[in-house]
Amino acid sequence: MKPGALAYFRADSVPQAVDLLLEGGMDAKVLAGGQSLVPMLNLRMVAAERLVDISAVPTLKAWSADSKEVRIGACITHEQIQLGEIADPSNGLMQKVAAAIAYQAVRNRGTIGGSLALADPSADWVTTTAALGATIEWQGPDGPGSSPAEEFIVAAYTTQLGVSDLLTGIRIPRLDPDAKWGTYKICRKTGEFAHAMAMVIRAPKASRAFLGATDGAPIRLPHTEQVIGSLRGWQAAQAKVLTEAMDADLSATGRELTDVRIWQSRTCLLRSVQMSFGVEAIEPESI
Ligand SMILES: Cc1cc2nc3c(=O)[nH]c(=O)nc-3n(C[C@H](O)[C@H](O)[C@H](O)COP(=O)(O)OP(=O)(O)OC[C@H]3O[C@@H](n4cnc5c(N)ncnc54)[C@H](O)[C@@H]3O)c2cc1C
Repeated sequence: MKPGALAYFRADSVPQAVDLLLEGGMDAKVLAGGQSLVPMLNLRMVAAERLVDISAVPTLKAWSADSKEVRIGACITHEQIQLGEIADPSNGLMQKVAAAIAYQAVRNRGTIGGSLALADPSADWVTTTAALGATIEWQGPDGPGSSPAEEFIVAAYTTQLGVSDLLTGIRIPRLDPDAKWGTYKICRKTGEFAHAMAMVIRAPKASRAFLGATDGAPIRLPHTEQVIGSLRGWQAAQAKVLTEAMDADLSATGRELTDVRIWQSRTCLLRSVQMSFGVEAIEPESI
């Protein structure tokens, strides 16, 4: 199938893109890498009368770095991150995540901003930016806005962005050089969206742990983070304590995951913690 008739506009700057979006109102859509939007238009799952292509806006394709953080423009592609073309604030976590998104063809064009704006709960950047304590920035008719990544997504496919807002960039604080991370996702086959995902960062000052690919925003696990922070190495006996902490954190959120999803999330969490200690495999009986 092909999409309905559309007007195509190519923006040269962020203000021009916002004006074009405002003019088009509810019928205008941002086009970034097109890897999600174009199939959805073709399948008529999304309707639009106007596309505002932002892929040539120089500031959205730029990145900058200082001693505290790295700022990534919304149109930086998964491939650029995968290839290490952007300064890395994450001790290698972002490069690892980018390399496991979809297939090379999707990574060539798909952008970090498009992924966050779409807010598919299974998308890798949704959980990664939350785990890294990133800040999402946007520009709209009412001026600039920003939000911590873990609050940016309010529900599946729903963010804090208004109809004519443009996600402009992501600010990611530099991880402590001694911080270790681990991440694991369960997909039916390589290149598919995840069914479950976990991301763990063990930093000297505070650890962070999130579950992704849930029913909505990534789920932060505060009690599990305390347990992770107290670990000095990996021992199989810790699996029980960690899964109990994760289960307690899940019930405290009131979010309802299926039994299968809970089991998958436990596996992802344990493998992530193991990975952060440099242990590759987990014995199934200890999960
Ligand atoms: C076969 C396949 C497998 C995939 N597997 C994975 C996977 O394993 N993990 C994963 O994370 N992703 C996966 N994806 C999604 C992929 O990462 C997309 O590239 C990404 O979700 C969308 O990025 P895009 O730049 O292509 O955005 P587009 O498709 O251009 O846009 C997506 C949506 O976001 C809006 N939008 C885009 N940019 C902005 C912006 N700057 N401001 C406001 N709104 C904006 C658009 O209007 C549209 O609604 C997969 C996609 C495909 C086709």
